[in-house]
Amino acid sequence: MALIVHKYGGTSMGSTDRIREVARRVAKWSRAGHRMIVVPSAMSGETNRLLALAKELAPASSTPQTERERDMIAATGEQVSVGLLALALQAEGVPAVSYAGWQVPIRTDSAYTKARIESIDDTKVRADLDDGRVVIITGFQGIDAQGNITTLGRGGSDTSAVAVAAAMNADECLIFTDVDGVYTTDPRIVPEARRLHTVSFEEMLEMASLGSKVLQIRAVEFAGKYRVPLRVLSSFTPADIPIDEEACSGTLITFEEKLNMEQAVVSGIAFNRDEAKISLIGVPDRPGIAFQILGPVADANIDVDVIIQNISHEGKTDFSFTVHLNDYAKAMELLRSKVLPLTGAERMAGDDKICKVSIVGIGMRSHVGVASKMFRTLSEEGINIQMISTSEIKTSVVIDEKYMELAVRALHKAFDLEQGLI
Ligand code: ADP
Ligand code: ASP
Ligand code: MG
Repeated sequence: MALIVHKYGGTSMGSTDRIREVARRVAKWSRAGHRMIVVPSAMSGETNRLLALAKELAPASSTPQTERERDMIAATGEQVSVGLLALALQAEGVPAVSYAGWQVPIRTDSAYTKARIESIDDTKVRADLDDGRVVIITGFQGIDAQGNITTLGRGGSDTSAVAVAAAMNADECLIFTDVDGVYTTDPRIVPEARRLHTVSFEEMLEMASLGSKVLQIRAVEFAGKYRVPLRVLSSFTPADIPIDEEACSGTLITFEEKLNMEQAVVSGIAFNRDEAKISLIGVPDRPGIAFQILGPVADANIDVDVIIQNISHEGKTDFSFTVHLNDYAKAMELLRSKVLPLTGAERMAGDDKICKVSIVGIGMRSHVGVASKMFRTLSEEGINIQMISTSEIKTSVVIDEKYMELAVRALHKAFDLEQGLI
């Protein structure tokens, strides 16, 4: 008898019929003798709907007060889901109880809309499990030290599930979603993408941080830190599929890093449309300039991703960096009002029609020429590279957004990632 955490995403919870299917699947695991905790997301589209309502009343403002209310609103989607799933399980004849984050409680910091989980009290959950109940806990939400409801950022139910699994010392955390595992790239963009049977934590962390939305990055961080066995699998198989078969389906995120003969140098391709580029042109090139530009940006709690400083010409240089689209307007305003006058730069420019495409693979450590193959492939497609950033196991390029799909497809082919090739 194992303690298992299931997480079901929005599409998996998308209608009362789907919720009934989820209940049948959970009931199957429970009847097999497992102690079950389930963490569902809001029904598909619901979080977007709720945030759109908030936007109608407060289009642009992002003060701590407005962010607090946004979380109050967005968190309700998951509360509906847990209640519905508990009813569906009870109708299946399985005792079940639902909890909102604050009832557990799942404690977070106060960073509204992107809060971090600090601790989870397992007392109540353990008591229910001991009494033979399936425990259903809201994804995405928690409570801060002052009793305010917080949310964990988009896709945050993954993190809730993994954090609950870590706190409860669960045997496995199964992330049920609308694809049957982690693919070499988003199968919606490249239908020939291939499912990976296993992927290392390191690669999954890079893929998630570079834009593969199949798992929220913090979920992967948590799983790595607390060594939670993690699997991504489909909730769209028949609910009565044999447990043994289900338990080894999908993609296992593994600590195993040994490369075997079959393993490709590049394991996957990630892309991110949610970035924007900001450039300061004609900046006097003197020591401390990067700090003068990026210091105020960091002080405003804006994360900077790719950075590039051009070679200087007649004592002047151009300096560009990317930020999340959500921070673009705020960063542009900050630069206009503070940084431009401070640095004496000639002018600034912004571009929110860019995207970042990355190749990821632990095999890149031991192979040379991988990045140059990426650049060659893009040049053969006539795609101009605006920025480049590398680490041991990834190379990212910033390109014009309109070439994103072309770039991803061309790279997927160039690195032999299609089905049937491995
Ligand atoms: P859920 O609602 O279950 O959390 P998400 O929409 O957040 O589901 O994540 C699943 C989606 O992630 C898939 O439908 C797929 O389009 C997308 N995705 C992006 N990159 C990948 C990848 N490398 N492998 C699988 N799915 C991916
Ligand atoms: N419902 C939240 C969202 O749409 C959390 C999640 O689905 O993981 O982002
Ligand atoms: Mg998700």
